Amino acid sequence: MRKNIVAGNWKMNNDLAQTEALLTELQSQTKTSNAEVMVAPTFTNLWHAFQSLRESGIEVIAQNMHFAENGAYTGEVSASMLKSIGITTVILGHSERRAYFNETDQSLAKKVDAALANDMRVIFCFGEELTDRKAGNEEAVVGDQIKNALFHLGAEAFKNIVLAYEPVWAIGTGETASPEQAQDMHAFIRKTLADKYGNDVADNVSILYGGSVKPNNAKEIFSKPDVDGGLIGGASLKAEDFFAIVNAF
Ligand code: PGA
Repeated sequence: MRKNIVAGNWKMNNDLAQTEALLTELQSQTKTSNAEVMVAPTFTNLWHAFQSLRESGIEVIAQNMHFAENGAYTGEVSASMLKSIGITTVILGHSERRAYFNETDQSLAKKVDAALANDMRVIFCFGEELTDRKAGNEEAVVGDQIKNALFHLGAEAFKNIVLAYEPVWAIGTGETASPEQAQDMHAFIRKTLADKYGNDVADNVSILYGGSVKPNNAKEIFSKPDVDGGLIGGASLKAEDFFAIVNAF
């Protein structure tokens, strides 16, 4: 059966001292749900976070990586570098990466391949913009993002893929998709997978929702049958809020 997952994306927040403080606070929280818990600090704090949370049951994951193994790619970090410090899960395709760093479905397909070739787990993000939704195109856009970046893969690969539906209009805006909007899209995503790979794959892939998930709305969103967890931005920067969300299952 598919897993419930709550992942905190810290984005470009927290220097070393702030990261240490948050790690200490995270360790004092109690998990009462069955959700797998992950946090994604910046690259500079990954190794430190990995060591601090080693015994905690919280997995430390990366926010991004490059598709090449190594070489002349100034400023980039590879899958094998992440693996060498114990990181085995990476977020790929976040809407901020797509918007500010020109990531496309095509370049993301290469990153997904590189991560899987290194036995890493991928949290693959996608989602429509407000204009798409207003035009009633949200399913077409999301369907294309998934097909373009993932449908070259074999069914086996989906054991190491988690999907994260993040409508761009709900990220950092305080505006969430309603639980019904999230459920409708998650059901569409699962059907898209089922049509290509069959129910066995579709039923076992965790599909997370992201976009202004907070302690006060997490329970309702997570109660929907096709929502298997959340990718949490702003609310993951406070350990108490983050664990309120983790425990909303
Ligand atoms: P948010 O971010 O929770 O601050 O809206 C979500 C995300 O970008 O993953």
